[in-house]
Amino acid sequence: YNRSLQRTEKMKIISDLAASVAHEVRNPLQVTRGFLQLLAGRTDEKSKPYFDLAVNELDRASDIITDFLTFAKPEMDKIALLNLSKEIRKIEAMMIPLAAMHGGVLVCHTQENLYFHGNSSKLKQALINIIKNSIEAIGKEGLIEIKAASEEGDAVIRISDNGEGMDEEQIVNLGVPYFSTKTKGTGLGMMVTFRIIEVMKGTIKIHSTKGKGTEFLIRFPLVVKDKVLPDDVGA
Ligand code: ADP
Ligand code: MG
Repeated sequence: YNRSLQRTEKMKIISDLAASVAHEVRNPLQVTRGFLQLLAGRTDEKSKPYFDLAVNELDRASDIITDFLTFAKPEMDKIALLNLSKEIRKIEAMMIPLAAMHGGVLVCHTQENLYFHGNSSKLKQALINIIKNSIEAIGKEGLIEIKAASEEGDAVIRISDNGEGMDEEQIVNLGVPYFSTKTKGTGLGMMVTFRIIEVMKGTIKIHSTKGKGTEFLIRFPLVVKDKVLPDDVGA
C-alpha cells in the first residue's frame, strides 16, 4: 500500500468534507440575509444602519466560504465560451457601488468580441477578489481601472489601482494561504484567484510599487469564433 496514495485519499476526504460543510453553511446565511432585509424595510430610520451592517457582514462570511469552497474544490464543473466584455460588465456593475462606498471610482474599458474558455462564476470570483483588494488599498481620490483587450492571441485583462501598493515581501507572499496584512483579512483571496486562473489555463503577473499602486495582468488564450479572428470583428 502506497503511502502517498493514502495521503491523497485522506486529502480528498478532507476537501470533500470542507466543501460540503461550506455548502451547507451558505444556505442558512442566505436565508438570514433575506429576513434581515425584510426587517430592515419595517424598522425605524435609526436602526437601519445596523441592518445594513449585519447584511454586509453576512456577505463577507458568504464570500469567505465561497473562497474556501474553491480552495477545497478548484475544478470547474462547467466550462463555456465566455464573452470577455460581457463578463467584465457584469463584474463592473457589482463592484461600482463597493468602490464608491470606499470613496473610489471604478472605470472599465473593454474591447468587444473577445472569446475564451472558462467558467463564468469562477472568473467572477477570481476578478472580484483582485478588485476588492484594490478597493481596500485605495485612499482619497482612489481610482481603479479595468482594461480588457486582445494582445498577441490572448485576451488580456489589466486591473490597476492607485492605492498603497506592495513591498517585496507582500508581492512574494501573494497567494500564500492565510498571508494577509489586514486586520480583517483572510489571506484566501489571492490564493483562490491564482488557482482559478491556473485551472482556466491563464496566467497572472503583478506589478506593484509601494505608495504608488498595483497592476494585475491576466491572460487567457483567445478562441477563434465562427472562423473569424476576434481581432477582425472590429473593436
Ligand atoms: P486579504 O485581502 O484577506 O488580506 P488576499 O489574498 O486577497 O487576502 O491578499 C493578500 C495580501 O496581498 C493583502 O493583505 C495585501 O497585503 C496584499 N494585496 C493584494 N492586493 C493588493 C493591492 N491591490 N494593493 C495593495 N496590497 C495588496
Ligand atoms: Mg482580499
